[in-house]
Amino acid sequence: MLPPDLARDVHAFLAGERGLFGDALLCDLPLRSEALMPRTKTHHAEAPEEPALFDAPPVPITQEAWGNSPTLDVLERSTCGCVKCALGHTRTKFVFGTGNPSATLMLIGEAPGADEDAQGEPFVGKAGQLLNKILEAINFRREEVYICNILKCRPPGNRKPQAEEVDRCLPYLRKQIALVRPKLILALGLTAAENLLGTTESLGRLRGRELRYEGIPLMVTYHPAALLRNPNWKRPTWEDVQAVRRLHDELVQQGR
Ligand code: URA
Repeated sequence: MLPPDLARDVHAFLAGERGLFGDALLCDLPLRSEALMPRTKTHHAEAPEEPALFDAPPVPITQEAWGNSPTLDVLERSTCGCVKCALGHTRTKFVFGTGNPSATLMLIGEAPGADEDAQGEPFVGKAGQLLNKILEAINFRREEVYICNILKCRPPGNRKPQAEEVDRCLPYLRKQIALVRPKLILALGLTAAENLLGTTESLGRLRGRELRYEGIPLMVTYHPAALLRNPNWKRPTWEDVQAVRRLHDELVQQGR
């Protein structure tokens, strides 16, 4: 482990020289460590203060070094050191996404929770176990699909993603979608649906419909964590995912 001051200075230097070195070198630095927090701030475990880092507008995707990443692995390596928002300083692990890089079905949730933050993989906690069962019920193996989130880093206390965090993070997801090129996207919960579709419609009105995200068919269902809280939503979710399976198979068959 580097001494705190040195680690902070190395990090600041690499962040400043990102254009030269890319993000890859930033990945290996312990971003969570106190050493990388701003010098003047005191951080408390229960209520970490979130530094405001939104003073600059987002850089257009075409000007980002990672914008030309030819594969998901390259994209992950070049984005995993991201500190474009405060969550980059509080995360344990950057949760990029997992699964088949040529999946025909892509599932998109909200943001990593505590288990995902610790393990660096989306949907590995209780909600993830339920998601695995849902997938099994419609004859998909977890490895067959691609799973990721709107945000790559855990919001403290699992609060809802803020608009500016989404603005900073969504370009990574758009690039992931462009690389995977799924036939169908399943948005898990309202946060995913709202941010992908730019809508404020209720989940009740969005489910059961074939919608589109940048030309790709998209369906919406309840978030598995919501099902854990309200088992009455299991039945409608079962109907939704059966419709997802049917539409997926049609799209694959038609080669659309
Ligand atoms: N909830 C999400 O939305 N995503 C995860 O990865 C885990 C829980």
